[in-house]
Amino acid sequence: MRKKIVAGNWKMNCLLEEGQKLTSEIVNMIKDEPIKDVKVILNPPFVHLYGVKKLIAGVDSIALGAQNCSDKEAGAYTGETSAAMLGSFGAEYVIIGHSERRSMFNESNELLTEKTKQALSNNLTPIFCCGEPLEIREAGTHEDYVKAQLTESLFGFSEDEIKKLVIAYEPIWAIGTGKTASSEQAQDMHAAIRKHLSSKYGEAVAEEISILYGGSCKPSNAKEIFSKADVDGGLIGGASLKSRDFVDIAKSF
Ligand code: PEP
Repeated sequence: MRKKIVAGNWKMNCLLEEGQKLTSEIVNMIKDEPIKDVKVILNPPFVHLYGVKKLIAGVDSIALGAQNCSDKEAGAYTGETSAAMLGSFGAEYVIIGHSERRSMFNESNELLTEKTKQALSNNLTPIFCCGEPLEIREAGTHEDYVKAQLTESLFGFSEDEIKKLVIAYEPIWAIGTGKTASSEQAQDMHAAIRKHLSSKYGEAVAEEISILYGGSCKPSNAKEIFSKADVDGGLIGGASLKSRDFVDIAKSF
């Protein structure tokens, strides 16, 4: 059975008290309304990691993640945060290759390989993002585009390594736009991703990897999207900043 996951990406939002309030609300709701077999991951900005970790302590269904890590181990890299540091602050997951980082911070497929290596060698689970821009979707070449992202960044990893990853398919045209992919569009791409992983690592390995959908996911559409065979949960941006909406999404399986 693949792990079901709902991960919240706070992006660059929440002052100290806002982040603490949001976390406390989520913790209380999940204590009162237990969710079955779903791992909920909070991915706040770095400065919130320590405080969020304290607030989620003892709640097994909630884990901590970060939104990025350095491609380097340690040293004179001002402003960077290493995967080892994230682990030492209690993070278990790290988002790698979000489209905002690819486009605004010029993160290449090669750099993302290095970040993924850092995450894996420090026992963090990478949530590896892929997804196409609108013009590629309109040209009908979206599957090839996403497959190339995965091949170039990930296909150098061993079977044991690749099994540790979570993949997040996030069509760029659906991120923060209110325009969600249809559940069929999500399923088609998730199935194509799984088939692509299978072509390199075999079916048994591909069947073990959780693939999340991201892009304007909300309580009103999560159930339909999560009902699809190859959709194992969601990476949630905007709606993860509203405790009620986020927990309702986590309850949508
Ligand atoms: C994201 O940025 O990962 C995301 C899915 O954002 P949103 O849910 O706001 O579209």
